[in-house]
Amino acid sequence: MKGKVYLVGAGPGDPELLTVKAARLLESADVVLHDALVPEGILAIARPHALLVDVGKRVGDKRISQQAINRMLVQFAASAATVVRLKGGDPLIFGRAAEEMAALRGAGIEFEIVPGITAAAAASAQARISLTDRESAAGVVFLTAQQAAGKGATDIARFASTNTTLAIYMPSGRYREIAEEAIGAGLAPQTPCLVVSNASRPNQEMHWSDLAGLTFLSPPESPSLLIIGSVAKCREEMQTARTGLPAEFRVALEAVQQRIL
Ligand code: SAH
Repeated sequence: MKGKVYLVGAGPGDPELLTVKAARLLESADVVLHDALVPEGILAIARPHALLVDVGKRVGDKRISQQAINRMLVQFAASAATVVRLKGGDPLIFGRAAEEMAALRGAGIEFEIVPGITAAAAASAQARISLTDRESAAGVVFLTAQQAAGKGATDIARFASTNTTLAIYMPSGRYREIAEEAIGAGLAPQTPCLVVSNASRPNQEMHWSDLAGLTFLSPPESPSLLIIGSVAKCREEMQTARTGLPAEFRVALEAVQQRIL
């Protein structure tokens, strides 16, 4: 008899944001293959004798390849194990789930998807902004600043428009490039932006800015998510500084903004 694979979303990090189903599956899995993003507090739910493999880990300077992960899923399930493939956020959003599902289909292994709270949902909840605030946004686009190998530069410009919110995953410190691309595509330099790093975790940070200010942002700790659009305006006094820029550069920032505007 073959086992079954569950592709499970672990949510953004706060264990309370796991679904009940994800927690139940974790408690009963024989094998848990998890991403580096999944925190200890969630892994602790697995039963004591479950086999836990960090497939996001670097081995020396190399990551375990996606092909190796696919083979692991197939082989563990083929030996009758219940396998949980635990991914940060939602498994179907920028999670390479399509490749894993193809491998499982190819090997005739049964699988099921358990959705999770994606980073954009967690970040907007923490910032208390609505990604689709009908005053200013007709929709939200989930984008990545990274592309699959061989697919060329990212296409932020294609989706930049005044009534669309951009939720950009994996900005990887490319804030200047992203801001320049968006301004080049016609968005105003004063378009609000928000970077939330480690959303829902104890070390969460928020940086409110605008496109002009974004070019100066010193990249916060990863993982972080960038939200661009009118909805990303800070509406609360309690929030931190308007940009992540150290105070000593405030005068320079304002001068540059004046020049750009
Ligand atoms: N499947 C995940 C995304 C995986 S790609 C999801 O649905 O959220 C990894 C990227 O997700 C990170 O580079 C970052 O942009 C974003 N991310 C994941 N967890 C995050 C968190 N807690 N806070 C901010 N961004 C996060």
